[in-house]
This record gives sequence, structure tokens and C-alpha cells, in this order.
Amino acid sequence: MTARPLLNRRLDGLGTTIFAEMSALATATGAINLGQGFPDTDGPAEIAEAAVRAIREGRGNQYPPGPGIPELRTAVAEHQQRFYGLDYDPDTEVLVTAGATEAIAAAMLALLEPGDEVIAFEPFYDSYAACIAMAGATRVPLTLRAPDFRPDLDRLRALVTPRTRLLLLNTPHNPTGTVLTPAELAAIAELACAHDLLVVTDEVYEHLVFDGAHHPIAALPGMRDRTVSISSAGKTFSFTGWKVGWVTASRELVAAVRTAKQYLTYVSAGPFQYAVAEALCLPDAYFTTLRTDLLRKRDLLADGLRAAGFDVFTPQGTYFITTDITPFGEKDAYAFCRALPERCGVVAIPNSVFYDDPDAGRTQVRFTFCKRDEVLADAVDRLQGLRG
Ligand code: PMP
Ligand code: GLN
Repeated sequence: MTARPLLNRRLDGLGTTIFAEMSALATATGAINLGQGFPDTDGPAEIAEAAVRAIREGRGNQYPPGPGIPELRTAVAEHQQRFYGLDYDPDTEVLVTAGATEAIAAAMLALLEPGDEVIAFEPFYDSYAACIAMAGATRVPLTLRAPDFRPDLDRLRALVTPRTRLLLLNTPHNPTGTVLTPAELAAIAELACAHDLLVVTDEVYEHLVFDGAHHPIAALPGMRDRTVSISSAGKTFSFTGWKVGWVTASRELVAAVRTAKQYLTYVSAGPFQYAVAEALCLPDAYFTTLRTDLLRKRDLLADGLRAAGFDVFTPQGTYFITTDITPFGEKDAYAFCRALPERCGVVAIPNSVFYDDPDAGRTQVRFTFCKRDEVLADAVDRLQGLRG
């Protein structure tokens, strides 16, 4: 063995994802897992049946086409039209990926050169930092600060340099629940056009908006040809294990992202692609019910956390609530989350690991509410003991 470290230095410090670490802690302790964001109830039975049927009928059991099966690409294009009035050609402007995660990775690897700068909201969803690093680029944080977690647009303008290549957006934003307003999006779009920047926008929580509405930046003037929009079936249809995601963008941008994607997974999830094509065509009532159910759960958990003594930052979207643990005299979210299963049998995620600026999120803890009501009620009961 040489003395050289085994791990490529671009991955230095990335270690195990916090989601894996905290879910393992939940399994080891038997605690209620309000950490990693996955529902404890599967999505619609008829969509699960569609996947079973595809397997039985031999659809997708062998490598599907590289860009995704035509049925799914068409369904994605129709979804963009139905909800946002956006027009994409299913043959050249839609790409199916292994979850949003692969879409993010392929976009970063395809669109960035070493030395490029990427401005992204901090706290960052964890794979952003990893993918920017793997592309050899540099992340530049725009910190969303409590209690409102709004982007400071003057600060954003000041962060743009000649090396800035790309703005990486996430709305609704994980973990804070911030949903960008039309005015914020317009300002960001204007900046992107003025400096000829690309925008990659992660919209996996597009259907989980409780206050306001989801507006894709791709719909704004000048943005269609510089924006890569990313979404996935995981959150919208409650099948996070299927890992079916997609990209919509101009033909040139899709071609670039597809080039990288081909050598990451080539293809994935053949039979699930047929099922997700059906899911995307579900009537509007499906999407409305998903949102109203989760809104009730948001309020149930937010009230419970407040009663337990947390400072609660009510999210406008996503299925996560960010809290502050300062009222308990706590100063370190990571230590708090490590100890929480032992103290009261609940697992949560320390937002502190999503910040470059250690002070900005040191006392923030995230809980998910995509769980059955009785599980949320049990977790809330357990958390009441914290002040004890
Ligand atoms: N982006 C964000 C903001 C997320 O929270 C997640 C987790 N669902 C992903 C991307 C990854 O999505 P997928 O599971 O489809 O890869
Ligand atoms: N998106 C999920 C979350 O934020 C986790 C996905 C993952 O484990 N990579 O909790």
C-alpha cells in the first residue's frame, strides 16, 4: 500500500450521508425515525400494480432506451404542460434518470469545468456539495438565515464573479421549507440572464407547497434555454425506493446532461418507468389530496414540536420542519440528534451538517412529517419529555 490516501481528494470529508447515519441509528435503537424523508405509507396501490404488471408482461425487464421509455417522457412533458404551461418535446427535451440524485450528478458533471463556481442556497441538500466537488467546481453558499430563510438578493448579486457558471436552486427547499416567490424568482432570472448563467433547479417537492404556489423558473422570460429542471417520482408518488427522476430542458442542455448520465447508470428502473408514466397522468385530485394530507401532518407535528419546547420555523413546502433547540439550552444539533434516541426514542436530522458556515445552523434540527398520524402523535408525546 502506498501512503497516498485511498479516497479521491474531491470526496475528502464527505463521509457517510447524514440520512444513512441517522436511519441506521433509528434501526439500532428502535426509535421513531423522523430523520430521513421517506413516507411510511406507500403510494397509490394502482401504481404499484402497474409496476407489477409491467414486470409480469415483460415491459422494462431488459435495458430500457437510454433517454427513458417514450411513455414516461411523454407523461413528463404532459405534466409540465398541465401544471405549468411549459412546452417540452418528449423526444429531445426530456431525460429520465435514476432519481433526482442522478439528474443532479449528471448535470453537474456535464455542465461544469474545474474551477467554475456554483452558487447554491445554504443549507445545501447533501448531494449538491458532493456533486459540485466531483465535478471539480467550487460551491459558493448563499445562506438562508432563520427565522425566515429568504434569499438575500443583494448578497446573491454580490456573489456572482467571472467564474460563476451556474445557479443551483431548490424550491421548495430542503431542509428549510422555503418556497421561492415570483418576485424572488424574477430577480434570480434577471441575474442569470444578465451574467449568462445556467440554472439547475431541483423541484422534487413541487407538489408539496402549502403556502403560496410552486413556480418553475424555466417559465420566466429568457430562462427556458438556460434552465435544467429536475424532479422525481419519489416524493410526489411516495415511492422513494423506485428512484425514477427526470430532467426537462432545451435540446442542447438535455444532450449535455444525457452524455454524462449514459456513463453513470446508462439506464435504470425499467418496469417502474411504466408505472410512473401512469402516475404522472393521475387526476388533479390525487395531487390535491397529497398536499392537504401533508398540510394536516405539518400542522400536527409543528404544534407538537412547539408544545414540546422547540422554536419551530413553519415550512411553506416540503415535508420537513426545521426547528431550533436553543430553548432547551442545547448548542449543538449534531450532538443533540445523536443523543435524541436515547433521551426520548426519536430520530431527527441536524441541519448543521448542511452548512459551510458552522454558526449559521449549529442549533437547527429537522423533523419529517411524512408519517402516519399515529406515528407523529407518538413521536410528539415522546418529545414532550425533553424539557423534563
Ligand atoms: N433533491 C432534494 C432536495 C431531495 O430532498 C431529495 C430526496 N428525495 C433528492 C433531491 C433526491 O431525490 P431522488 O430520491 O429522486 O433521487
Ligand atoms: N431526500 C431525503 C431527505 O432529505 C433523503 C434522501 C437520501 O437519503 N439521500 O431526507
